[in-house]
Formats: sequence, structure tokens, C-alpha cells
Amino acid sequence: MKERVSSEIKSKILELVEKVVNGKIPIHKISEYTGNENIATIVRRKAIEELTKTHLPAIGSTIIDFVEVVGRNIENPIGAIQIPLGIAGPLKINGEYAKGEYYIPLATTEGALVASVNRGCKAVTLSGGAKTRILFDGMTRAPVFWTPSIDEAIKLVSWIKKHFSEIKKVGESTTRHGKLLDLETYFAGNIVWIRLVYSTGDAMGMNMVTIATDKICNFIEEKYPGETQCISLSGNLCVDKKPSAINILRGRGKSVVAEAIVKRSIVEEVLKTTPEAINRVNIVKNLLGSARALSMGYNAHYANIVAAIFIATGQDLAQIVESSLGYTWTEVRNGDLYISVTLPSLEIGTVGGGTWLPTQREALSILGVAGGGNPPGVNAKKFAEIIAAAVLAGELSLLAALSSKELAKAHERLGRGKRH
Ligand code: NAP
Repeated sequence: MKERVSSEIKSKILELVEKVVNGKIPIHKISEYTGNENIATIVRRKAIEELTKTHLPAIGSTIIDFVEVVGRNIENPIGAIQIPLGIAGPLKINGEYAKGEYYIPLATTEGALVASVNRGCKAVTLSGGAKTRILFDGMTRAPVFWTPSIDEAIKLVSWIKKHFSEIKKVGESTTRHGKLLDLETYFAGNIVWIRLVYSTGDAMGMNMVTIATDKICNFIEEKYPGETQCISLSGNLCVDKKPSAINILRGRGKSVVAEAIVKRSIVEEVLKTTPEAINRVNIVKNLLGSARALSMGYNAHYANIVAAIFIATGQDLAQIVESSLGYTWTEVRNGDLYISVTLPSLEIGTVGGGTWLPTQREALSILGVAGGGNPPGVNAKKFAEIIAAAVLAGELSLLAALSSKELAKAHERLGRGKRH
């Protein structure tokens, strides 16, 4: 019976593949004919194989259940991409939320990255660990409003400020965890932006605050007695998925700092360099070099660590853009090295988005932050502190490699492999 059903399904798949290839069924409508997203995924992949004259067995090998993820995380699936996952650690953290030793999951294809972060973890941990602190926590959405004149724009802003508590109630009616904390306003002539700042518990919060803001925009359009229109729910002063000064200055997601004092003996033994040499590279490269380039990232490679953790743990990958901006600061203190990293706009969550996918959730569980915290919000804060400490370890190791002229050699050894 099992064989018969499976051969029936097989012939149905072949029939549907032919129809897709001949343009009779569009790729986004396949599941209407299969009634099942996993079978639709097979049909779509086989059709793509025929249309592009390829063979995709690796993309087709996945544990993902597309019945669960379509409608939440993906449309038109054909399979999955796999990325190797490495571990760095233990990394000792003395945070407000992250306390103890952690193993950091890093998903990457860059040889030498995990080894480098691992070396930084060793140096930081042997020196007593990284101290971490969260300075700001708020996800933002900034709708933009048209008014006929600057006088009307000023009136609109003063009305909105006067009605803040009603606006808060309207927004918060859409969510259990989202809370409207504040709003900032910005003008360009007759155009007004309202940058709404929310706390979002353990969620990164973009969907949550977008839904709340939509309701707020409708409320303003309905109740404001003057003339205005919401031009767009997102007016680009949020700022999502783009580098910006406003996120760096005002913060978005979590603003988080990690610092450590690395003893001279450890810098010499583990990192094969000196505090003075690391400090010099930091000042000339990360500070002067970044200033000369008019860069927004005064650091060596936050994006490497942020991206590898984001991939491993199901974060929104486009937010690596602003999450990896920040400042590395070093000092030589009594012969030892003081080092800190400051990430003003780290946008992360432990619930929502891709965090519930099976491999990503396991990676979060390695850090002890999978799912909602008790009370809500503590898991995301702990996760932010862990990321900042891992960034510190990565930054320390790369600065050390540059200062001892080891970087190219390490990449030659670990980043090339056998030629094919
Ligand atoms: P979400 O999955 O849309 O929302 C989080 C959900 O988790 C809410 O339903 C929330 O319920 C619930 N929840 C349960 N326990 C929670 C806890 N402890 N803390 C917080 N929430 C908890 O995720 P999101 O973080 O808001 O949005 C992330 C997604 O948005 C990603 O997939 C991302 O790619 C996407 N995104 C969307 C936009 C956009 O403009 N919409 C922009 C960028 C990215 P309550 O709401 O009832 O509290």
C-alpha cells in the first residue's frame, strides 16, 4: 500500500513538474495543486532543475518541514542552503544578564574566523572575562506624514505629543509584549516623521512594532483635527537595514558594550604580541583609517562575528548592516591592555522570525537563550551581551594578528584548504 501511494505521488509530481515547466502552473501556485507544501517544494525544485538544466540534490536535502515554515519564513521554497557551524569558547562573561562561561555558535564559510574568535575567547577568559552592559533597548518604526504647511506640521507634532497616552494605548492594543516607550519627531518642511520607540520583550520586534504603528497611523489620520496623511508606515528614519547616523546616535535594538582588561602576559603568550602594538593598530587602523574613509564602522570586523551568530541563530540577516556598526577602544593601562567594543544598534531576538527553526533554535539553546525569557526580555538582553562579548573576542584576536603580522599567514593556513 505504502509503495502504491508513493508511486501515485511520484507520478503526480512528474505531471505537475511538466505543467510548471510548460508555464501552465506558476511557481507560486504549486501548493494549490499539491495541497501540501513539502510536495510543492519537491515539484518546484524538480521544475527548476529542468528549467535551468541543473541537478539539485544537496539543496533538496533538508530537515526543514515546509508545511510549518511556508507562511512564516519563506515563499516558493525549493529546499535549503547549509552553512557549516563552528564553536568558539568557552568565553567568560560578567554581564548583567549573561553570567558564566559560554560556547559561541558561529555559522560561516570564512576559514580562520572561528579559530580567531576562539583565540580571543581564550585570552579574554584567562584575563577574568568580559564585562557587558546594555545602555539602551528599543525597537523603532518611523512613519512619515504629509501636511500642507510647516504651521500644520508643527500643529500635528504638538497634537501627537499631547495625545501620547492615547497613542500608546492604541499601539499596545495589538501586542502583549510590545510597549511604546517614547516618540521623537523630525521635520523636512511640511513633512513630519514620528520615530516611535518600543520595548519588544525577547522579540527583535520589527513585525510587532510595524503592526502597532499601523494602528497608530490610522488613529492619527482619523482623530487629528487638522489636515494630514500618512504617506508611508516606514519613512526611513527608523532606520531598518541601512547604515545611518541616527541609529548610531539614538540607538536601535540593543545598544551594548563589552570591555575587558587583558593582562600583558596573556597578550604575549596567547596573542603573540604586546598591548602597545594592539593599541597602535587600533588607533591607526580602526580610528584614523575609518575616519579617513568616512566609514561608519570604527572597528576591524564586527560584521564577521555578528553575521556568523545571526546566521546560526535565525536572526534577520539584512540587519547585520546596522548591527555590526560600532567602536573599538583600547588603552594601555599599567602595562596591560584595556579593550572595549560598543555596538549602538544590535537588533536581535530569541523569539519570532527564524529563531524557532530547528537548527537555529538548537544554536540558541547552546547559549541558554532559546525562546521567551522569564520575565520576558531577559533572554534577548542576555543574548545581546553574549554577542557583544564574542565581538570583543573577535576584535581582540584580529587586532593582535594584524599587530604581529600573522593575519595573512593564518588565512593562508586556514582559509584556503586543498585546491579543487
Ligand atoms: P514576530 O514573530 O512577528 O513577533 C513575535 C511574536 O512572539 C509576537 O507574536 C509576540 O506576541 C510573541 N511572543 C511570545 N513570547 C514573547 C516574548 N517573550 N517576547 C516578545 N514576544 C513574544 O517577530 P518580530 O520580532 O516582531 O519580527 C521579526 C520578523 O520581522 C522577522 O521575521 C523579520 O525578518 C521580520 N521583519 C519585518 C519587518 C516589517 O516591516 N514587518 C521589517 C524587518 C524585518 P505579542 O505580540 O502578543 O507580544
